[in-house]
Amino acid sequence: MQQPLEVNAVVLSQKMIINANNERKRAFRPDTWKDQVTKQRRARGAPYISRNNTPRPGKIAPVGKPCNAECFYPGCLIPLPEKIKLFRTYYSMGSYNSQRSFLLALIEREMVNNSNNFSYFLPVNGARIRVCKKTFIDTFKVTDSVIQNLQNKSKQGQIIIVDGRGRHENHPVTEDYVLTLIEEHIDSFPKQENHYSRARQGQFYLSPDLNVDRMFRLFVEENPAVPNIEKKETIYRRVFKRSGLTIGEPRTDTCKTCDLLNVRIRNSATARLRVLAQDEQHIHHTTWEMAKNAMDEDMRTARDDPTYVVLCGDMQQVLFSPTLTHGEMFYKRQFSTYNYCIFNGATSVGAMYVWNESIGNRGSDEVASCLLLYVEQNYNQLENGQQRTLVFWSDRCRGQTNNFMMICLFQLLIARRIFKFFF
Ligand SMILES: [Zn+2]
Ligand SMILES: [Zn+2]
Repeated sequence: MQQPLEVNAVVLSQKMIINANNERKRAFRPDTWKDQVTKQRRARGAPYISRNNTPRPGKIAPVGKPCNAECFYPGCLIPLPEKIKLFRTYYSMGSYNSQRSFLLALIEREMVNNSNNFSYFLPVNGARIRVCKKTFIDTFKVTDSVIQNLQNKSKQGQIIIVDGRGRHENHPVTEDYVLTLIEEHIDSFPKQENHYSRARQGQFYLSPDLNVDRMFRLFVEENPAVPNIEKKETIYRRVFKRSGLTIGEPRTDTCKTCDLLNVRIRNSATARLRVLAQDEQHIHHTTWEMAKNAMDEDMRTARDDPTYVVLCGDMQQVLFSPTLTHGEMFYKRQFSTYNYCIFNGATSVGAMYVWNESIGNRGSDEVASCLLLYVEQNYNQLENGQQRTLVFWSDRCRGQTNNFMMICLFQLLIARRIFKFFF
């Protein structure tokens, strides 16, 4: 059983992490978060990068006697290897709370003439040996302010230290005008609405060449007057997330059901849940195979029977032009070119229909027009008594093919006596 993971002010249990992971494409692993890694490195005395990107060196074990020769405390005279051992013990604890509690226990407070007197000890072979403050600080390589802090805790009568870093109400606040600047900046990028799937209607996306890193860099370049602007990345990201925008066109070439099932299998909380998800995946794959087999069967029939026409239609990826990644570019709207592919099962020849956004959109109208053009160019009207069947395969994208417009088109093709049956 793993211990609950402490993430700043929030404690996440293992169960919460598993639940949070269930529906995500990318697993949620708080132990790899930048802040967590930094915290752990810092507690181990390893070099780390502070929150404002300042590199901090690692702690170096004591090398000699820090206090002057006359210092009479017995602890100041203990051999160097003992001190190095204490240093290692301290940094191998690896947790802020146990380290500071350990130090606090080695500090004693005494009231002398109405003021606090502190004395310091080192634990050597089970005994507490008195040292001067200099040696104490040098052995554990802590700063003066750490000692100051521990003295205050001692005055308050605390004996166990609970990490209070970041747990206060006095966080720096980003001024409203900076937030407004960020919102306006994010808003200044050209957006496109997603017409692709109905479930995501009303969702807007930005150019796939963009990423939040780049957007933030542009924001910094454009607002040199804002103090400490280069430190506002976290806030910029937060505002971006709140805007509900996504970058790039949502990918539709991967199967969402497959992705979701894979995540569920990988992150199942119990063996039973995993088996359930695996069953579902099996059914999903079997269904897919059945559809694939049916399509292959159709194509075989089409090759032998000229009156049996099998067409597969698919929208290809949008081509954006130009694809430069220069800063200025992102504020301009890119020009979209669409490409619809119709594949003939009998001849194994594909036909590409290419148009750009000044000519048409990429909805049901355009797809139906492509198909109509293809049929008109390749098949003539039926003579009396002649028969021809059309089988049309496509994805189930409602915006393009799985809609009323296509039904109307097939009705039209039959009315024009190009086909007699349609599947
Ligand atoms: Zn000393
Ligand atoms: Zn799938």
